[in-house]
Amino acid sequence: MRERWVIGNWKMNGTLQRNRELLDALKALAPTRARIAVCVPSVFLPQTAELLAGTAIAWGAQDVSAQPNGAYTGQISSSMLQEFGASVAIVGHSERRLFNAESNEDVAKKALAAANAGLRPVVCVGESLAEREAGRAEAVVGAQLAACTEALARFPALPVIAYEPVWAIGTGKTASPEQAEAMHAFLRSELANISPEARQVPILYGGSVKPSNAAELFAQPNIDGGLIGGASLVAADFLAIAAA
Ligand code: PEP
Repeated sequence: MRERWVIGNWKMNGTLQRNRELLDALKALAPTRARIAVCVPSVFLPQTAELLAGTAIAWGAQDVSAQPNGAYTGQISSSMLQEFGASVAIVGHSERRLFNAESNEDVAKKALAAANAGLRPVVCVGESLAEREAGRAEAVVGAQLAACTEALARFPALPVIAYEPVWAIGTGKTASPEQAEAMHAFLRSELANISPEARQVPILYGGSVKPSNAAELFAQPNIDGGLIGGASLVAADFLAIAAA
């Protein structure tokens, strides 16, 4: 059976005080079928590691360097993150592709660096509204996945893929369950072409997931959970989504 995941992406949000309240509230999480993780700004990793120690909730980063160490001012390596007990790392989020000009190749290198350091890379893919309206959604998302394909074969463990249509992130517009399922089924068939194991890669949906739409999205046959932005900052909402 494929793994299920619900992963919170806090983005550039949080304070020591607010994190403590949020993480303390998340500890009330009842056991779920899904694995739960929060990806926090890296400066908050020590606090997160301390507060979540001994719980079933995993923690991770929102980006990693493609490099193992050296003269890369401002970057953080996967092994540094791993030292703090991080077990997952988002790579290729559309905000990084947009604001940091990350290419498909950069994302593949980061995913491989994370995997080699023992982190589970959560590789984000997704098309813009203009690309969808031009009928290019599958071509764009397929190319984003294909860039990782060669690296994928060398991963020591399966990555997680997150389909996040850019037009649905933080906009309140969610892909309909049918739209999301169609893209997930496409991604599943592309993965199946790589290897039978790759067919088992969990594919999460991200883009304005909330308690009111989570159950319907997660009920789709190829949707294995969610990558949650805004709603992961509200304990009650994240708990409800995890329960769904
Ligand atoms: C995200 O940034 O990964 C995301 C899915 O954001 P939101 O849930 O706020 O749309």
